[in-house]
Amino acid sequence: MSNMLVKRGIAVSPGVAIGRAVLFGAENFKVQRHYTSKAEIDAEIGRFHAALDAVCADIEENQRVATERLGSDLGAIFGAHLLMARSPELVGEIERLIRVETNTPERACDIVLNKYAKLFSDLGSRYHAERAQDIYDLKNRLLRQLLGKRRQELSDLAESVIILAHNLTPSETANLKKEFVLGFATEVGGPTSHTAILAGALELPAVVGVGDFLSEVNNGDIVIIDGDRGEVIVNPVESVIAERREAQKKSDANYAALEVDRTAEPITADGERIQLLGNIEFPTETEHCLERGADGIGLYRTEFLYLGRDVEPTEEDHYQAYCRVIDDLGGRECVIRTLDLGADKVPTSNGMFAEVPNPALGLRSIRLSLQYIEGFKTQLRAILRAAAKAPPGSVKIMFPLISSLYEFRQAKMVVRDVMDDLEEAGVPFQREMPLGMMVEVPSAAILADHFATEVDFFSIGTNDLIQYTLAVDRGDPAVSSLYRTGDPAILRMIRMVVDAAEKSDRKVPVTVCGQMSSDPKFLPLLIGLGIRRISVTPHSIPELKAVIRRLTIPKSKDIATHSEWLGLSRGVDNYLQGELFKICPQVGH
Ligand code: PEP
Ligand code: MG
Repeated sequence: MSNMLVKRGIAVSPGVAIGRAVLFGAENFKVQRHYTSKAEIDAEIGRFHAALDAVCADIEENQRVATERLGSDLGAIFGAHLLMARSPELVGEIERLIRVETNTPERACDIVLNKYAKLFSDLGSRYHAERAQDIYDLKNRLLRQLLGKRRQELSDLAESVIILAHNLTPSETANLKKEFVLGFATEVGGPTSHTAILAGALELPAVVGVGDFLSEVNNGDIVIIDGDRGEVIVNPVESVIAERREAQKKSDANYAALEVDRTAEPITADGERIQLLGNIEFPTETEHCLERGADGIGLYRTEFLYLGRDVEPTEEDHYQAYCRVIDDLGGRECVIRTLDLGADKVPTSNGMFAEVPNPALGLRSIRLSLQYIEGFKTQLRAILRAAAKAPPGSVKIMFPLISSLYEFRQAKMVVRDVMDDLEEAGVPFQREMPLGMMVEVPSAAILADHFATEVDFFSIGTNDLIQYTLAVDRGDPAVSSLYRTGDPAILRMIRMVVDAAEKSDRKVPVTVCGQMSSDPKFLPLLIGLGIRRISVTPHSIPELKAVIRRLTIPKSKDIATHSEWLGLSRGVDNYLQGELFKICPQVGH
């Protein structure tokens, strides 16, 4: 009988990957019944003892610290834990399950410690219930040691695998080696979470927000990640593997046919030139954008320079990264966004940020830069110096998460300060530097007419704008159905910004750089709303170009008017999907 399992999640990066699973991270894992071969038994016993030693060393350390700070009575609590962990009955029983019944150490610890915990909790008293919790805690520590090793091993993968994890932080995702990772799926994560964006940057098929499923998978199981349909298929039967391979071949051929047009300009059928720029997280992606015919970089998320390192990048690190992008662009436009760092992008566990109640509303992004001026200046110096190599005005600085005019003015003043410092020190830098802002907080959209008198450009960050307008966490799969890109409130915000920019004396240019603009379905709507510049995931460029070349401005305007009239986002989505199919069936299928 087949034990195939199909799970649905959120498709965040297209393509189909088929390979063996590696379960990444131990937290919340239930251990499956899983046996080892006889030849491995001694090694498995050794692995168990190594894990036990590590756990005991941890407990001893806790005991030492507790005794020192709180006295020996409280320190003794850990002494009891230690006795339990080293108990000969417990250790003997786990060893027996590994040796005689050929269970994995994970499975053996799970069985034995669950059994003892249950015996205690069945005794019924509060005291015994607490002891049961201690045993569960011991089990989790052991499992973390046994399974958690895999976290370090991720960087040492030697064969191509599918990564399955409860969660992948942006830095873990950024460090996935493309040679060894075919695709990934996570239990948590939302459609525009940073992990999802990185999957797109790495061009790895990915599905997030699958919900609990890791307990039903073993390391080494064959898994399909279908990043087009948002499916994870564990232990697929042969016919399903063949069907998905076929579908992938067709979609590759379709994509290749669209890519042929890479040198064609993104001009609508009635002659309107649309600026089609790329979003990048790493300098190496500039090439991906140019290969696909991008006009330049519309969003360089520089915070990714920080991910996966323990020390802050120096001015030279920043400078080298920017020079690389600027050199590759050969004079084309390059919008460098200053650090958009915060606890929402960097896990608190790496110590860079303290745990805060609501990181999305906390000290992130430009707020952090303005509090930590020295770091901000370091980055600005590097940008201004690197931009000296580019034609004046082609490199632009963009500030993220601006929520008030005051904030924009402050940021602008810091740029002026840095220019003065460079001038004084005789360091060459770019003086002609347009300064713009992301519109990703509702207050910025509402006051766009005020901002338009001071900024050189706007870039609408729909990922955050949706999150803050609809009060829906962009990374939380529990509310992903409420994260509605086509919501009337979002359409109205975009229209407000375009109108304010158009009415301004300076005709401030407006780009859309959130994920909305990478989805071909929304493109006619955006153009109909007056958008003429989009900055997108590199992979989506050929599709978007194909749609642009088949559109006309009057048709786009009709589509925008009708969408605004529809009111409900679900209706908007269906309508736009239907229109896309009519305009460009090869993309809208
Ligand atoms: C956005 O919020 O839409 C955006 C482009 O920025 P990020 O996804 O990096 O927050
Ligand atoms: Mg944002």
